[in-house]
Amino acid sequence: MAPSQATARLALLTGPSGVGKGTLVALLQERHPHLWLSVSATTRAPRAGEQDGVHYFFKTRQDFDALVNSGGFLEWAEFASNCYGTPRAPVEERLSAGTPVLLEIELEGARQVRKTFPEALQIFLAPPSFEELERRIRGRGTESAEAIQRRLNRARAELDAQSEFDAVVVNDDLEAALSELEVLMGLSS
Ligand code: ADP
Ligand code: 5GP
Repeated sequence: MAPSQATARLALLTGPSGVGKGTLVALLQERHPHLWLSVSATTRAPRAGEQDGVHYFFKTRQDFDALVNSGGFLEWAEFASNCYGTPRAPVEERLSAGTPVLLEIELEGARQVRKTFPEALQIFLAPPSFEELERRIRGRGTESAEAIQRRLNRARAELDAQSEFDAVVVNDDLEAALSELEVLMGLSS
């Protein structure tokens, strides 16, 4: 059962690469500036237009491992040959200040958060079909053919896990998906 909106201060969005998480999160941030989006650390190289400290904190593998070893991450996981993690301190600070927090992370990280924050609202974003997911990830044009294949392989396991989540939103029509997220997260439009 989904947690009540009153306790859903921490929300988490997961879904296969290319499903539209980033697109929807950017729209949520635009419409609800009080919602704080956690900025993750990653060992992945920046894409064109991505800024350090805004889209991600870009780290070497050595720096990332040091953060893992010092307990600096709330959760972390390896995804398609790179590491990704949620810096712990800023999330804890926002939560204790009563600010609603949103994490946009992959499946293994979501499972870790389920253990440490069982009250968090966990939402899975699904594509209308696998073919459409493939079209979107290829159409985005940000990854090599090999990286796209790794992400699509991983997508099958992620789609199989959607029943673990409090809610599943299908991102077919973008505006409809956005409205569903707003309702689930208790955000007024
Ligand atoms: P993710 O962050 O989940 O990897 P993105 O937000 O980067 O995915 O979206 C992948 C591609 O799909 C982008 O080119 C985006 O414009 C497109 N996209 C997102 N949502 C939709 C939608 N509802 N219908 C069609 N295309 C979409
Ligand atoms: P991308 O390389 O496309 O930006 O992200 C790849 C995947 O990593 C996406 O599924 C995204 O949600 C996930 N991701 C981004 N940040 C984090 C994080 O801090 N932790 C985890 N576990 N996954 C993350």
